[in-house]
Amino acid sequence: MGTVRDVRIAKRTGFCYGVREAIDKAKESAAAGKATHTLGQVVHNEGVIRDLEEIGVETVETLDDVDHGAAVVIRAHGVRPEVMERAEARGLEVIDGTCTWVIQEQRELVRLVEEGYTIVLLGTPKHPEVVGLLGFAPEAIVVDEEGDWALIPRRKKMALISQSTQPPWKFEKLAGFMVSRSHELKIVNTVCPVTIRRQEDTLETAREVDLMVVVGGRSSANTKELTRLCEIAGTHAIQIESVSDLEDASVFGSAAIVGVTGGTSTPIEDLQAVAERILRLAGTDQAAADAHDLATAALLAAATPAGRTTSLPAREPGSTSPAGAA
Ligand code: SF4
Repeated sequence: MGTVRDVRIAKRTGFCYGVREAIDKAKESAAAGKATHTLGQVVHNEGVIRDLEEIGVETVETLDDVDHGAAVVIRAHGVRPEVMERAEARGLEVIDGTCTWVIQEQRELVRLVEEGYTIVLLGTPKHPEVVGLLGFAPEAIVVDEEGDWALIPRRKKMALISQSTQPPWKFEKLAGFMVSRSHELKIVNTVCPVTIRRQEDTLETAREVDLMVVVGGRSSANTKELTRLCEIAGTHAIQIESVSDLEDASVFGSAAIVGVTGGTSTPIEDLQAVAERILRLAGTDQAAADAHDLATAALLAAATPAGRTTSLPAREPGSTSPAGAA
């Protein structure tokens, strides 16, 4: 018999609006009968990709894999301007799923270049959003961890901007560091509010529970940050990619209440499936018996149906296919 009596899902989790809209656009295009592709995985989540494949949406790595006249969805991260131009030149129907927040970042960069700033971009160098942003400011200096910051030159006129999912504390710290590097420093805070809210809600949940489970891509910076924040709140956190990673009840120790949170690419229904799995694996006899109802209650407490951040059809907890799908 386990010790877990209840589970909590952090509020305002699930897909961010940028990811949701890109997925919606791909689904609408396929529903209209168009041959539809996404340039790169629209979200790093196997279940979501499989669901899209089932309705005919194919992931391609290059525009060369898309036939003339077919639709190609640009994912929320955005792309370099040349990619858009090439897609149009090849006669593809471009469906722009670039997140509106990322479009703002791109516009800010264009403005900063025109105004002659030396630009420092806080971001992960190979992250698709950063790769796309560099198309608007090719000379921008990309820095990530604190060890990189010494590479930032001293210039009279500098600007600081950020990849949307960077932690706010890191952005603020870098801004402080850059004060000594320039005479004029322009700070354009493009850390996405969705990222900030998710971190706040994760912290709130972490303070109420004995242990946290963080669901998201292993290499995802925003998922790692959620794990770090839980530890800062004094609550041990386990990071997993999906429900299938939860096999060992001993990781829950003597925890009575477990919290669940996830990155911006994790559907909230996946968090519900994780909550149910925790209760079945490490719950008290009563909690294990009531696992489905308790996990559903945790989902309802985290988000009303209208407030859920996924556009996918409801899935049975634990399943990777839409409810009722073969
Ligand atoms: S994290 Fe924010 S900026 Fe990035 S895709 Fe989601 S909503 Fe857009």
